[in-house]
Amino acid sequence: MKLIEDKTTFNQKFVVEVLKLTLEQTGKENCQDCGHPLKLIEIDNLKGMKVEKCTNCDMLYFYKRNRLGKWQLQKATTSQIFSKNMFASLIEPADFLGFDTNWSLATCALQLQEVAVTLVAKKKNIILDKPHVEKVLGKKIKDDISFNDRYEAFTKQLKDLFNVDMPILTTHLRKMRMKVLHEGYNPKPEETESIVNFTIGLLQRLKGINETT
Ligand SMILES: [Zn+2]
Repeated sequence: MKLIEDKTTFNQKFVVEVLKLTLEQTGKENCQDCGHPLKLIEIDNLKGMKVEKCTNCDMLYFYKRNRLGKWQLQKATTSQIFSKNMFASLIEPADFLGFDTNWSLATCALQLQEVAVTLVAKKKNIILDKPHVEKVLGKKIKDDISFNDRYEAFTKQLKDLFNVDMPILTTHLRKMRMKVLHEGYNPKPEETESIVNFTIGLLQRLKGINETT
């Protein structure tokens, strides 16, 4: 147990051991990795299974009820591995459409751009509906308003209000959004990389605006 330092006395160690035993008996488990308490995140009484998560680190604990009605630990895994497995099981059946992890990664990044801009705009009272965007950009928009237009209007207003420069949405990135999200294009690894890198830069900038200005 990491909690026990070398300096602690035998008595302290004894108290910790007794406490551990008591907790085990009452069914309240601590993380095997870092010693912090676990929190129930999912329970299915019909199947007799539950999932608990460490309140401190990423570990997930999967339990099954045994014949005596006691919870038995089946496996412990980091939630990152768990998410990776879920991710794979979702994208594998889409293989016949020609999608691989580049597509899911790019889609996730592109969606993140959109919701991040929407949420930060809302917080900063920047209205991005069609009439406002048309006014800010000084042009009429024929069809439905696109993210590209909304982003441009958002960027302009941020510059006016807070003198902040946002990353430029290049023509390449604009086309990629269209192709990946709406036309089912599976991006190449280097295209995915540029989308992800742009998104990371965008999120960092938005985080700064969200927190300070
Ligand atoms: Zn932990």
